[in-house]
Amino acid sequence: MLKFIGSGSAFNTKLGNNSAYYKEGNQILLIDCGSNIFQRIKENNLLEGIEQIHVLVTHTHADHVGSLADLILYTYYSHGEFAKNKIIIHSPFDTGISEILKLNGCVVGVHHSENLIGGSGQVTKILKSTLFNFDRNSHVEELNTYNITLNIKGRTIWYSSDCNEINKSLVEDINFRNNFIAYIDTCKADYNGNVHLSLRKLTQLIKPEYRNKVWCMHLDEGFVREEAEALGFNVVKNEY
Ligand SMILES: [Zn+2]
Repeated sequence: MLKFIGSGSAFNTKLGNNSAYYKEGNQILLIDCGSNIFQRIKENNLLEGIEQIHVLVTHTHADHVGSLADLILYTYYSHGEFAKNKIIIHSPFDTGISEILKLNGCVVGVHHSENLIGGSGQVTKILKSTLFNFDRNSHVEELNTYNITLNIKGRTIWYSSDCNEINKSLVEDINFRNNFIAYIDTCKADYNGNVHLSLRKLTQLIKPEYRNKVWCMHLDEGFVREEAEALGFNVVKNEY
């Protein structure tokens, strides 16, 4: 349902920073815009015919927001109609994205708009009928990080962003809810204090019969696609 511009972890330059998108008519929804994402968007003409861009920001690690200011200023100055604000940034206010964009020279109301959300659970509607809300995640102590629940055309999509654990209620949703799929940060690296979720842990949490509802993403360099697929999981691919 979602497509991916990049599907790698912070240092997996080959696959690019993890970033998903969904297009509807002349609008695009983008989740995060890490350091090497603007270049991939431009090189693959992803904005052709696009007049409005919604960016959902999960947290402010550079591999999630590193080229967001480039995208904002590019769309204002060089994409489509000159000097028209085409981007809305949606994020919980306490991710701090607003301050980062300001320091990057992006002016709210001029270059872009912001929908700063109070916190977990608040539902926003965008595109024709897409609903989403953010919820707090377990990732790193120093940054507020959020997962996203999206409802697109009757299907519920849970998108972990970066996380090192998933809770019991998500596992139950994967097991028992129809039209429910989960995109989960999964890495090969497996050590105490890991800020991402290892394939070993995910395998312990999700029973084999439900693994076809899970898509592994944010893949590190040691991740072996065939290993995850042999266990019954899906693995995302970059698609433009
Ligand atoms: Zn992160």
